[in-house]
Amino acid sequence: MRDRTDSGRTRRRLRRHDPLETSPDVWPAKTGEEVSPVEMTIEDLTRDLKTKSCPTCRRMMKSAKDFFALWQYDLAREEKAAEDFALELGFCPLHTWQLLAFSSPWGTSMGYPKLLDRLSHEMRKLPKMPDVGQIVRHFVRSPGRCRVCRLLGEVEENYSRGLALLIQSAEGREAWRESHGLCLRHLGLLISVTNDPADIEFLINEAARRLEEMSENMRRFARKTKALQRGLLDRNEEKAYLRAMVHLVGEKYLAGAFE
Ligand SMILES: [Zn+2]
Ligand SMILES: [Zn+2]
Repeated sequence: MRDRTDSGRTRRRLRRHDPLETSPDVWPAKTGEEVSPVEMTIEDLTRDLKTKSCPTCRRMMKSAKDFFALWQYDLAREEKAAEDFALELGFCPLHTWQLLAFSSPWGTSMGYPKLLDRLSHEMRKLPKMPDVGQIVRHFVRSPGRCRVCRLLGEVEENYSRGLALLIQSAEGREAWRESHGLCLRHLGLLISVTNDPADIEFLINEAARRLEEMSENMRRFARKTKALQRGLLDRNEEKAYLRAMVHLVGEKYLAGAFE
């Protein structure tokens, strides 16, 4: 909880220093509003826990993809969406490239000119201003500050609150024990929104057990590979190195999205 509040405060503080910040708060957005960050049931969460990845990362990836699918359509066809996009200075670098992957060259060419025109207009005012280099750097949305970053921030916080509720039940704890747990970033967030010390202890012990299991699987993988005994590898050992990376730093798709 404190993490989110602090980062929200940091964002607000940064925004006041942004010389180009002329748009009002852009979240919730008019377009893309259909992607709700909160709708989930206990059944959804229990099912999500069966993933070998981090369930919170997976939920964020789904929300991002749903958002891009809607946004690329609106950006190409709705003048208001292109105007908002220009006011917000587009997306951060990661989300710009992810949006491009969802868009056609035609859609991108329809949606981006307003942003480029705005930047061109701002650029012409710069020669008379101090600290031009810093202003130009602010033409690029920083990680954690674009519309998609904000959406994902809402998703991960709400999802974490759902998980905190889930582990309060015996069934939820059982599902958690059978799961692979969360990446460290999302484990930290879940602990921050969990109030009960017994729940926190449970989460910590389970995470420690999972890390140890991954470590043992990786050692077995390395040993059997070196001894040319690859035929003796089981699936947990074969994939342990990838799972370990996800659980250390989160899903690759989300890497670089946050400060
Ligand atoms: Zn995660
Ligand atoms: Zn972003």
